[in-house]
Amino acid sequence: MQEFTKFPTKTGRRSLSRSISQSSTDSYSSAASYTDSSDDEVSPREKQQTNSKGSSNFCVKNIKQAEFGRREIEIAEQDMSALISLRKRAQGEKPLAGAKIVGCTHITAQTAVLIETLCALGAQCRWSACNIYSTQNEVAAALAEAGVAVFAWKGESEDDFWWCIDRCVNVEGWQANMILDDGGDLTHWVYKKYPNIFKKIRGIVEESVTGVHRLYQLSKAGKLCVPAMNVNDSVTKQKFDNLYCCRESILDGLKRTTDVMFGGKQVVVCGYGEVGKGCCAALKALGAIVYVTEIDPICALQACMDGFRVVKLSEVIRQVDVVITCTGNKNVVTREHLDRMKNSCIVCNMGHSNTEIDVTSLRTPELTWERVRSQVDHVIWPDGKRVVLLAEGRLLNLSCSTVPTFVLSITATTQALALIELYNAPEGRYKQDVYLLPKKMDEYVASLHLPSFDAHLTELTDDQAKYLGLNKNGPFKPNYYRY
Ligand code: NAD
Repeated sequence: MQEFTKFPTKTGRRSLSRSISQSSTDSYSSAASYTDSSDDEVSPREKQQTNSKGSSNFCVKNIKQAEFGRREIEIAEQDMSALISLRKRAQGEKPLAGAKIVGCTHITAQTAVLIETLCALGAQCRWSACNIYSTQNEVAAALAEAGVAVFAWKGESEDDFWWCIDRCVNVEGWQANMILDDGGDLTHWVYKKYPNIFKKIRGIVEESVTGVHRLYQLSKAGKLCVPAMNVNDSVTKQKFDNLYCCRESILDGLKRTTDVMFGGKQVVVCGYGEVGKGCCAALKALGAIVYVTEIDPICALQACMDGFRVVKLSEVIRQVDVVITCTGNKNVVTREHLDRMKNSCIVCNMGHSNTEIDVTSLRTPELTWERVRSQVDHVIWPDGKRVVLLAEGRLLNLSCSTVPTFVLSITATTQALALIELYNAPEGRYKQDVYLLPKKMDEYVASLHLPSFDAHLTELTDDQAKYLGLNKNGPFKPNYYRY
């Protein structure tokens, strides 16, 4: 509780980024939206709205957009067949019957598929947005029309943000027994305002790096009072979200913002972890000349073996056309580097927070900032040199491109299974601690996605299983296996 109450709760837009978590302000434009926050100046909180069944148990921008939203959800369902098959498999047994889930995630077509899956599995859901910019208004309307108690719209103020969370938690005659969180703000609110609710909560499922970090802090301090599942670090999330998602979305983000051609361009990627490996693979495939910087000799050696030149940033900074950071670290690109870049060099970040590029150092009187497109700034030096800064150093793909639905399907399936596991676990299986999803369930998440590719798994023979010391049905790898 103490860890969570450290967060200041000042009101007013200027204190926004400090008083709610980073993930709640990072833009996440995962799909086209039919509307934006300016289409109607009346706050949804002031409006009286009912869905076609007469219910007003929601607060969205405009319930009349539900039909558009339904189409978006149906498009997302095409690439989220694992969740659809979960719905079919659980038609009879309803593993979430009696579950009352309070959720706080991005409200997009893909999360709508998750929420409706949870409902199909027997849960009652109340939902708010974990990000003030990311809600697809029409999708929120479609959920409200379908009877989900959703409280979210694009362009919420900070006060709206907490109001929406409160409307999900503080309800007469309804008490949540599960939490699904992305960023930790909902968990924080419950700890701060309604700690008694935890008496009924069977578990928390947390998706983000930030939220998981907060949970581990609570656990370390002995203050976590329910079991929590760390979805962020499950293999199915890390390998697919970090590696394959970034492999596709790095190019999308760069193309949409700059129209750059990659063939023959010199690119330096800082960090050769999962995200860096994805970025490098994509850029190499398009004919770019790729350099890598690393601090870790193992990752550096991997980059060498994959055919990349490992250099110090200062060695190539004068010649490169594009600089991409993905280290999770801070001040990787400093003002000194920025001063030495050539004209038109593109600089962007794929790491979690906007600390990797020292953007603050560019806010000095001798430099001029010119906003040339949404999310694209030209920073101009006195001699006329321009550096192209994307998304002001925030996550490029979440700010400027879409994230493939299929990748979100893997994460959403992991979240659904984590909820099922925690909700149905016999007393004593999970204590007041943070857990990873059991490997067998990670394997199950993967297996649910194989039919999309018509992939056929080989089955172990009895003899082979005995030889390897494995159960024929898995788990197939020890926990320490690195994939
Ligand atoms: P990782 O730990 O696997 O890789 C980071 C790499 O950066 C490591 O190999 C580390 O040695 C290296 N590094 C650290 N400091 C460095 C420095 N100063 N110079 C050069 N290299 C340095 O992590 P990851 O899974 O690749 O994630 C990287 C970041 O991207 C994290 O912040 C993560 O939260 C974020 N992320 C972004 C997305 C996205 O969609 N953009 C998806 C997943 C994760």
